[in-house]
Amino acid sequence: MTDNTLHSAPCTTKPFIAVCKQSSKHVSFDVWHQRIGHCSAQRMKLLPINISVPKHSESSPCDVCPRAKQQRLPFPLSVISSCAPFELLHIDTWGPYHTKTYTGHRYFLTIVDDYTRTTWTHLMVTKNEAIGLIKAFVAMVQTQFTHKVKTIRSDNALEFTKSETALDFFASNGILHQTSCVQTPQQNGVVERKHKHLLEVSRALLFQSKVPLNFWGECVLTATHIINRLPTPLLQNKSPFQMLYEKIPSYDYLRVFGCLCYMTTTKQGRDKLQPRALPCVFIGYPYGKKAYKVMDLDNHKVHISRDVVFHEQPFLMPRPILALLYFLKQAQGFPWKNSALFSSQIKPTQHHLMWKAL
Ligand SMILES: [Zn+2]
Repeated sequence: MTDNTLHSAPCTTKPFIAVCKQSSKHVSFDVWHQRIGHCSAQRMKLLPINISVPKHSESSPCDVCPRAKQQRLPFPLSVISSCAPFELLHIDTWGPYHTKTYTGHRYFLTIVDDYTRTTWTHLMVTKNEAIGLIKAFVAMVQTQFTHKVKTIRSDNALEFTKSETALDFFASNGILHQTSCVQTPQQNGVVERKHKHLLEVSRALLFQSKVPLNFWGECVLTATHIINRLPTPLLQNKSPFQMLYEKIPSYDYLRVFGCLCYMTTTKQGRDKLQPRALPCVFIGYPYGKKAYKVMDLDNHKVHISRDVVFHEQPFLMPRPILALLYFLKQAQGFPWKNSALFSSQIKPTQHHLMWKAL
């Protein structure tokens, strides 16, 4: 079983500070603000990390926040209507998005546990993948958490309500399937709100990093990772992670999405005069591994590595380089489609099993 499967336990044990090769001490408010997806200063005060939140008048204006966040009236506070983890799951699919991810995905599936508000997202090529992923998720819950899923709430999407496979699966496992009334997706409000939050943080990561638009999937997966670690008043200022695992998550290993980093090369196949590190862009946290997902700036391959040195501030290299790549890609004829990135080591089949839970 690979580390990318649903069944692998998320990184809940010791933080991998040692591999970061960088101290998290003396990190400025602005860097933390970027690391955790531009969350508000008010929410940042709830984090158990050593940062001094500046007064509004002292803080430097953030160029990303206003562009990423919709000004809207506050939602009425959501209500938790279950008594234990995995009693009730809220499920929805999002997409299709007009631009495929570099791994060929246009959709994502979102599962929210009602009790802990922990969120799992998974990229999909088509909506039909949803039921297979839900089956795998239910099996993971039984094996890893020894809980049984009792109720699944979704909207009236055909992939759930009309699929015989789905109905058979729910019936044979004793799972109640609740659907919202036709034309009233608000009844599926928990996951609707979660999508809004996910997209808000994803936009912030996209604008902050200036990665090409076809990296939106990495933004969504990273946003999930961050949101699961943000304390919320709904959970009495605990994070979903803390609710699920009954311990405070580590924050030290978090880094600024899209920043420049150097991945150490392995001794294997390296001669005396070859570089000891490769310049990369940080693009997320692989599920179930204490490591980072990075993209090689030279050949556009995606790597998973523990041994990475980060340069989070300022964005000296990646901004101009990635912005240039992005604009070149928009222009006809730029050979990104044929580049290693698009046929990269992360194949869709591997991605299929790559859950981004925590
Ligand atoms: Zn911001």
